Amino acid sequence: MAVPTLLPGVGRLFEMPAALMRMSRAYSKPQTFTEVLQLPKQQLTKFVFPLQELQRHLISESTSDLHLKTFDPSLEDIARAESIFTATAGNRIEYLSSAVRLDHAPDLPRPEVCFIGRSNVGKSSLIKALFSLAPEVEVRVSKKPGHTKKMNFFKVGKYFTLVDMPGYGYRAPEDFVDMVETYLKERKNLMRTFLLVDSVVGIQKADSIAIEMCEELALPYVMVLTKIDKSSVGHLLKQVLQVQKFVNTKTQGCFPQLFPVSAVTCSGIHLLRCFIASITGNLKT
Ligand code: GDP
Repeated sequence: MAVPTLLPGVGRLFEMPAALMRMSRAYSKPQTFTEVLQLPKQQLTKFVFPLQELQRHLISESTSDLHLKTFDPSLEDIARAESIFTATAGNRIEYLSSAVRLDHAPDLPRPEVCFIGRSNVGKSSLIKALFSLAPEVEVRVSKKPGHTKKMNFFKVGKYFTLVDMPGYGYRAPEDFVDMVETYLKERKNLMRTFLLVDSVVGIQKADSIAIEMCEELALPYVMVLTKIDKSSVGHLLKQVLQVQKFVNTKTQGCFPQLFPVSAVTCSGIHLLRCFIASITGNLKT
């Protein structure tokens, strides 16, 4: 695909806005939505709706290109979703248990979402960013070769369960594929699968293992583009448009709108929280 035509004067887009940097002093400090709302309008848009910001830099502007309006919540909805992800005495967010097989998984009545992606795609970092307002939550990482890969279950208050699936590589072991496939196929309360793709390199061969699995099982899934702070706007747009074209033409079950995020700057994290709250039925009035 040709590099998209850009409006002039744009460099790296998704570095942290200066105003937010001053507020938070360090990247790792969680940003509350109340803080984000104090940003100037353009910075707020860039931070909360990264796809919208990218679209703005395309000369051939057509809002259908990137499906901007498919999920387009109000700022109030985003603030409500944040409260679901905020740990309080009355809203416990915690690691529950791990399982290597579906029949070892906790039997939970709540809606469930799972996160899946190849090793190094940024899955642990993203889950940590989603849980940044519940700092007690420990997101376990088991990356050493030979270590058992497990599904990790997290309870988010009375609202839903989030499952961190093991990362896979190009040659995913058969038992791993079996474990993930069985979970995806048989987990009754699974509402949505979040499939992570590294925005720096786009869809890789290893990603197609998971994409094919979701397609074959006719699952509803969503593509999340990680590490958007790492690229120039031109490179990021090229990757985003390529993934969007793939979603439009080669998938049936994938949600049409992409979710670009950065676990470093937290760009896109508030919108993703809101989407999770919405599809688990927790934003209804
Ligand atoms: P996992 O194997 O999928 O759990 O990946 P990790 O979350 O451990 O991330 C892999 C590497 O990418 C680590 O070095 C992270 O620091 C880095 N990384 C993850 N997310 C981001 C991001 O949003 N921006 C940048 N710049 N680096 C990231």
